[in-house]
Amino acid sequence: MATMQAYQIVEWGKPAEYREVPVPEPGAGQLLVKMAGAGLCRTDLHILKSPAGFWPDPPFTIGHENAGWVAQVGQSVDGFSEGNAVLISSMYYCGYCQKCARGMHEQCRNIGLPGYGIGYDGGLAEWILVEAKHAVHLGALSPVTAAPLADAAASSYHAVKMMLDFLVPGSTAAVIGVGGLGAYAVQYLKLLTGARIIGVDAVQDRLDDAGRLGAHDTVLSDEGTAEKLLELVPEGVDAVFDFVGRTETMSTGVRVLSQGARLVVAGIGGGEIPMGWEKIAMNAGFINTRGFNVSDLNEIVALARDGRIEMAATHFPFDKIEDGLQALETASVKGRAVVTFD
Ligand SMILES: [Zn+2]
Ligand SMILES: [Zn+2]
Repeated sequence: MATMQAYQIVEWGKPAEYREVPVPEPGAGQLLVKMAGAGLCRTDLHILKSPAGFWPDPPFTIGHENAGWVAQVGQSVDGFSEGNAVLISSMYYCGYCQKCARGMHEQCRNIGLPGYGIGYDGGLAEWILVEAKHAVHLGALSPVTAAPLADAAASSYHAVKMMLDFLVPGSTAAVIGVGGLGAYAVQYLKLLTGARIIGVDAVQDRLDDAGRLGAHDTVLSDEGTAEKLLELVPEGVDAVFDFVGRTETMSTGVRVLSQGARLVVAGIGGGEIPMGWEKIAMNAGFINTRGFNVSDLNEIVALARDGRIEMAATHFPFDKIEDGLQALETASVKGRAVVTFD
């Protein structure tokens, strides 16, 4: 039986390790994909540090921002052939429940948290087995470049897409946390809306990048962030995207909302804010969002293929995954950390 190297969590509380495992064989409806690029994510750090019970049980291969080349096509699969470049959705959805049928794959009724690299074997291995319905064609886009589109770039796209009706010309969007997901959000807002975009962050370097990527104004965050925002936009902000999700950022966000606005929280910072009459602007709303649908993936692939979004990345070879995770941990990586295979 053919074997391959896979970077797996074997037991909670122990570091992940390279293991020799069988190369999976695609069954009906499945694809075997030769990995090309696997983005590392803060969720991976979280998984590696978690106690038992928080995530699905090991052993499993981590890595949920995956892209590669179709190596083998299972029975009953249409639309894919060997050699196709594909992006693999980090959302694992059934495809037939009422939510999936309506295109709301992120709200799938049959599958909750697990996905490739989170319970199911992920992409930090030479090959990955996927359901064909979770693969999206990349066309001429390199799978190494595309890997972060499977998760980081897609979740922020979904958040922005949700708010398009609010962000007409003359409106204002604020993005709190413009590293990582937020840097993508600034670009999507610039591409898809007529809104004035304000970037908010505690790090000046990131604000400089946000300005280059399309933010009209930037605010260096401190205790007075809400006041600074309201000075810039006395009428209030129509959509606040919070990619941090701590109590401080959510409190800032809710304070600057205009009537009828939305606070969209995409950062899993564990914060909480009081909610109720007079705690939030009239007709305003709070949305927490995780994930995206297949249409989102197709759309960001199209944007990336046309060179309309900037996707900074630092590459780490497959045998140096730990260096990549370390760089992520110490925030010393420029752009996304992407593991490459040859
Ligand atoms: Zn992730
Ligand atoms: Zn479903």
